Amino acid sequence: MSVQEEILKEIKAYQTIIIHRHKNPDPDAIGSQVGLAELLKNSFPEKKIYAVGGPINDLDYLATMDEVSDETYKGALVIATDTADTPRISDERYSLGDRLIKIDHHPNDDAYGDLLFVNTNASSCSEIIADFWRLFPEDLFMNAKAARLLYGGIIGDTGRFLYDATSPHTLEIAANLMRFEFDAAELSRQIEQVSRDVARLSGYVYENLEIDENGAAQLIISKELLEEYGLTVAQTSGIVSLPGKIEDTKAWVLFVQNPEGTYRVHLRSKGPIINEIAKAHHGGGHPLASGANAKDKAECHQIFAELKKVCQ
Ligand code: AMP
Repeated sequence: MSVQEEILKEIKAYQTIIIHRHKNPDPDAIGSQVGLAELLKNSFPEKKIYAVGGPINDLDYLATMDEVSDETYKGALVIATDTADTPRISDERYSLGDRLIKIDHHPNDDAYGDLLFVNTNASSCSEIIADFWRLFPEDLFMNAKAARLLYGGIIGDTGRFLYDATSPHTLEIAANLMRFEFDAAELSRQIEQVSRDVARLSGYVYENLEIDENGAAQLIISKELLEEYGLTVAQTSGIVSLPGKIEDTKAWVLFVQNPEGTYRVHLRSKGPIINEIAKAHHGGGHPLASGANAKDKAECHQIFAELKKVCQ
């Protein structure tokens, strides 16, 4: 029996299924989580299916989260999507269920769960969920609501089919999803659009990005600067990909200071492998897109020194 068959067997066996995703969600976290929830609701209307993890703020055009009591976890199947390690699962009650399944596309450094399906070749976790649907046409029934979410997750993680992880298969899956009745162009606009404050900060990024002779780039965004622009740390996700548009950049790191003084670190690359740097600084992620944490400016400088090295 394949892992996917085992996962379907578990899904069929449980009456209550609670689906989690990672903290600080992006469109793929929500797309894979709620896309799976909607797919299962449509396929098994008699089951109780929940998507949990707390408020999702700027992504609320995609979905709203369910709230469940601790009691609901008793005898439930729990599935975590798009989440590489247990500390990153949003809502730590994931461990209160009967069985835990991991479905993810990040490197499997933390092989948690009773059952796990990890495909690091997939562009996104949403692509994996769509693959799962296509494997079982007799059991799983897609609808427009689920298709919209999964399509949103795919365009979110591939930068609308721009990044390396986009494969012919990604495009085939996206085409399959696009055949359902939802407004794909409107969804693309919603994912791409930024507030005026983020647009102003984008100007700052382009003006102030430091790029070395090998294409390694960095920018530190202090909490004072964020305050000046009227933005929270979570609202800065829209600027992370911007340095990639500059022809001279090869890999870049953005440091965004948290209110308590530490830094959220966003690493991106057009070629050099950067997730080893992230792992060395309390983070992780994909070879070309990773996140980490720095305790102070000295650690930021250290991370940029490491980035410069891999760009040489
Ligand atoms: P970000 O820069 O926060 O958008 O993250 C880029 C990628 O790295 C995403 O796939 C995240 O799931 C992953 N990532 C970010 N922060 C961490 C972390 N602290 N630990 C492990 N993976 C992370």
